[in-house]
Amino acid sequence: MKKTKIILFGGSFDPVHSGHLQVAQAVFAQLAADTMIFIPARQSPLKKDQPVEGRHRLEMLRLAVAGNTNFSTSDCELMRPIPSYTLQTIEHFQKKFGRDVQLHWLIGADQLDDFDKWYRVTDLLNACQVTVMYRAGYPKPTFDRFAGTFTSEQIRLLSDYVVATPLVPISSTAIRRHLAEGTLPKGWLPDAVYGYIKQYHLYGC
Ligand code: ATP
Repeated sequence: MKKTKIILFGGSFDPVHSGHLQVAQAVFAQLAADTMIFIPARQSPLKKDQPVEGRHRLEMLRLAVAGNTNFSTSDCELMRPIPSYTLQTIEHFQKKFGRDVQLHWLIGADQLDDFDKWYRVTDLLNACQVTVMYRAGYPKPTFDRFAGTFTSEQIRLLSDYVVATPLVPISSTAIRRHLAEGTLPKGWLPDAVYGYIKQYHLYGC
């Protein structure tokens, strides 16, 4: 019997943007997944800037996925002490859904730069299917550089699950800058998220 396929999409989402949503749709379709859960990090272990409060980032995510019955959000990382280790999140969902599901942890190609520094990364690779998608401005994902750190089977699985997503040149960093300058390009944020940002005067808006 086919296992239920659950894609876990973690990140700062500071704020969630149209790039996140476009690539999420593409991955969901290409993997023929059953559901995708967006998980805002309380504090990413490898990012130094203090993000906008978790409750705002979660609410923006809720607005962004509202109306898409395949997508939902989880506050599990916001409820835990910092930093937000992915392996603990995987363990949370293993407990919640049982072992009989296929869990994917979705990342963009930019995340590969320091991927080998992630907390207990080889355990993470054994606990779920890390699934890497393309990201505009970064090379297509390859894994040769990890040959000394990961087993050949782990590298084979990482390579097998690369998803060729559309290249969408949007980042939260660029959005924060445009919002502060009042120059946000049309379509970079879902309307409801932009409305929320203006309502709460986030990002110097
Ligand atoms: P920042 O600019 O603040 O670093 P970001 O735009 O990279 O933020 P995050 O919330 O940190 O957004 O990203 C969450 C995940 O989504 C990461 O795995 C990242 O690689 C991926 N991601 C973000 N934007 C894109 C995009 N435009 N295309 C593909 N993947 C993306």
